[in-house]
Amino acid sequence: MMAEAIIELKAVERHYVQAERKLTILNGADFSLKRGEMVALVAPSGTGKSTLLHTAGLLERPDGGEVILAGKACGKLSDEERTAVRRNDVGFVYQFHHLLPEFSALENIMMPQLIKGLSRKEAAERAAQLLDYMKIGQRAQHRPSELSGGEQQRVAIARAVANAPLVLLADEPTGNLDPATASYVFEALEALVRQSGLAALIATHNHELAGRMDRRVTLSEGKVVTL
Ligand code: ADP
Ligand code: MG
Repeated sequence: MMAEAIIELKAVERHYVQAERKLTILNGADFSLKRGEMVALVAPSGTGKSTLLHTAGLLERPDGGEVILAGKACGKLSDEERTAVRRNDVGFVYQFHHLLPEFSALENIMMPQLIKGLSRKEAAERAAQLLDYMKIGQRAQHRPSELSGGEQQRVAIARAVANAPLVLLADEPTGNLDPATASYVFEALEALVRQSGLAALIATHNHELAGRMDRRVTLSEGKVVTL
């Protein structure tokens, strides 16, 4: 049970055409993540970290190969089915928080739950719990512009896990923060992942933070390679 892969990438291909040249970003990338596992993705800019995370998180379709989430092959799902899987099973955190500016921290965390069909009461309770867990309960009514960078990212992390996904994908989630704040935010993220048994793949340039995860991988010639 523990060894079961939550997410599997099999021979994933991803190409872009730019100025009539074909750029190969992922070239037969294989990767798998087990329940409870926290893995760092450490690779230079432009090597395809965001492409890998977007493909794993069903935000982009692979040009070849397969993405398997909780045993379900997602390549041939319709857009609607992909959206449903993504909404239920994937949490995504970006480098920039991408919170909705006109809504409070609490409402931002309620939003994915409301879209999923929970009542306002249930969504508000879960959002408040997550804010407390992230130690920003007192910021519940603040809008994103009234929060510090570290607080914004803590809200974004809470939003990503609001629907209790199977996997958390984070694209340089602390890349925009000063080192002390990055460390604090990462600790909160780590505690949440460890406590919930989530699987997490986290792109980071921070070697100290990468060192605290279970494994480290990089991208080399379009493949995922163990560091
Ligand atoms: P990273 O996140 O590691 O910096 P990305 O996955 O964002 O890398 O990008 C990998 C490469 O793919 C880069 O060379 C980038 O310019 C290129 N790329 C990314 N998205 C597109 C796109 N939509 N069209 C063309 N090229 C792209
Ligand atoms: Mg990137």
